[in-house]
Amino acid sequence: MCGIVGYVGEKQALSVVVEGLRRLEYRGYDSAGVAVVADGLLDTRKKAGKLANLETLLGTDPLPQSTIGIGHTRWATHGGPTDGNAHPHVSEDGKVAVIHNGIIENFAELRAELTGAGVTLSSETDTEVVAHLLAAVLPETGHDLAEAMRRVCRRLSGAFTLVAVHSDIPDVVVGARRNSPLVVGRGDGENFLASDVAAFIAHTRHATELGQDQVVELRRDGVVVTTFDGAPAEVTEYEVTWDASA
Ligand code: GLU
Repeated sequence: MCGIVGYVGEKQALSVVVEGLRRLEYRGYDSAGVAVVADGLLDTRKKAGKLANLETLLGTDPLPQSTIGIGHTRWATHGGPTDGNAHPHVSEDGKVAVIHNGIIENFAELRAELTGAGVTLSSETDTEVVAHLLAAVLPETGHDLAEAMRRVCRRLSGAFTLVAVHSDIPDVVVGARRNSPLVVGRGDGENFLASDVAAFIAHTRHATELGQDQVVELRRDGVVVTTFDGAPAEVTEYEVTWDASA
């Protein structure tokens, strides 16, 4: 089921995210990618193959320093394991980046709708539709990325963990889940998102497990969880008692 990591805090996001992805390698994957927001710009790097390939790319073509970032390991279901199909996927305006584990079952009709509206899709994935849908709906939400995610999720069927960032909203990471895991790690002045607590227990042991059909808005100083309809959500908070070696 591969891996997802998100971070917003004071540390260098890229090292937190890549270290988190390494902790999730046991889940299996065929490609990896990251996105950061720095100085109002979104930037991504992605590469087929092992995390080491991505790290080599980051060495030759570095990302700017940033304290907000997301990372993904992919297990291809729609489109082969190529650099272009690797996540993150980005909206046409270059402002929204999305990562996804799972399958969006109604992607074909959403793709057709977007193509009909003049959007050019650049990958073969089911995931890419989400980046374009978020970009399209965001202006109607007063540029509220969590509300945009709720609106988009209500249109999706299938199994998904989704995480997104937007270059104009540089202090927020948004996540969503249906039939696929997503856990929040709550730190002091920093917060984490991951498919498994293993990705962040080196930083915090305070975890919040998201329930079915929930959206989370992560900022440095707080975490807000709602249902897909925007109602306050019930979440399960717990302390992780085992360590990374376990
Ligand atoms: N269905 C998506 C893809 O093929 C996500 C696969 C995954 O879970 O990593 O890109």
